[in-house]
Amino acid sequence: MRAEIIAVGTELLLGQIVNTNAQYLSRGLAELGIDVYYQTVVGDNEERLKQAIAIGRERADLLVFTGGLGPTMDDLTRDALAAYLGRGIVLHEPTMNKITEMFASRGGSFVESNRRQALLVEGATPLRNDTGLAVGNALSVDGTHYLLLPGPPREMKPMFQNDGSTWLKQIVGPAETLHSVMLKFAGIGESGLEDLLIDLIRAQADPTIAPYAQEGEVTIRVSTKASSEQEAASKLEGTLIEIRKRTEAHLYAEENIPIEVAIIRLLTAQRRTVTLAESCTGGMVSQLMTTVPGSADAFVGGVVSYSNQLKHLALNVPMSMLEGTDAPGAVSGETAIAMAEGMRATVDSDFAISITGVAGPASSEGKPVGLVYIGIAERNKVTRVEQLQLSGDREGIRIRAAKRALYTLWLALTGRG
Ligand code: ATP
Ligand code: MG
Repeated sequence: MRAEIIAVGTELLLGQIVNTNAQYLSRGLAELGIDVYYQTVVGDNEERLKQAIAIGRERADLLVFTGGLGPTMDDLTRDALAAYLGRGIVLHEPTMNKITEMFASRGGSFVESNRRQALLVEGATPLRNDTGLAVGNALSVDGTHYLLLPGPPREMKPMFQNDGSTWLKQIVGPAETLHSVMLKFAGIGESGLEDLLIDLIRAQADPTIAPYAQEGEVTIRVSTKASSEQEAASKLEGTLIEIRKRTEAHLYAEENIPIEVAIIRLLTAQRRTVTLAESCTGGMVSQLMTTVPGSADAFVGGVVSYSNQLKHLALNVPMSMLEGTDAPGAVSGETAIAMAEGMRATVDSDFAISITGVAGPASSEGKPVGLVYIGIAERNKVTRVEQLQLSGDREGIRIRAAKRALYTLWLALTGRG
């Protein structure tokens, strides 16, 4: 199935708003296995809208519209499509009742133009709007499918996810539905991962293998079109087994979750706890840990020991290690170890992770930008330290150091460290 997205609105053409709906819909349609061939933007003008429909019909089987379902005179999408198809417009009673009730409950008087939001092209299936008033329209005429969604993203997204997707799955047919597994990796970059999988990526046909890189994390989506979950699972299996085998030390989840979620789950399952001693990351790792709901049993807390004084007072790092001409300095393996051990000792957590480094822009203690040490103290084990040379700007180095610290903890929790 070939689709075209038609975003309607003069504001889009004037550059007053960004066409984020097109991005959202392109992604959503791809997930349903529908190929988007074109994205069009057209102003609030009935003639040009009709032209866009005529062109779209020539090159796509499905036209997805956003915008122009509202109450005002410049909301023309529904009228233009009805006129183009030579169909009438009918009132959708349930939407009309909802609108009347809403106005009554707010004590406002009903404005006649609001009636427009309850209108459907004759023969269209109504799509529920849970976050607004305008009803969506879905209809198939002479082999072309039309899906009309509202413009405001907070109305468009739920409508697309709910009634819109249900309708689309029906017209696409089960054999074409896309099934994907998201694989999440840490401690390796996109190119490193591609190297491990290069022959699979080059030879891919079905399933397809698509890598995406985020800051400090890489995702691979393995997808296939199938008519059922079971059929998809058996088509994906061989590829997944091969990827797992090659990336074992980096693959932390087979669903779209960040590494901190995987870590909190492991800590909780193992009934173990962690504390943090952060310097150059300024609490970033603690921040990531506390975004996970239910992290309180596993994450005890941390110290942002940015200054030497606090490294000494809160974590017991000897002053002689931090300062003086022959001292290793704040950014050193020795200090990372002392920070982790000092932190772990304060509350007797199972693990303590420390991070100290030079985030830049200037070098510090005569040490280069990007030099980072990560320490890991673990109950009944010898404390270890890892030296990294990270690249990027200050923010990039900080994020990568934070994600790397989480990866180090994940290795320890899975018995790989
Ligand atoms: P309304 O009932 O609010 O009038 P509508 O369905 O008629 O909704 P429009 O009038 O076209 O939609 O747009 C309303 C608002 O929705 C715009 O001002 C803008 O904030 C947002 N919007 C519209 N189209 C897009 C788009 N393609 N991408 C992102 N936002 C959009
Ligand atoms: Mg409008």
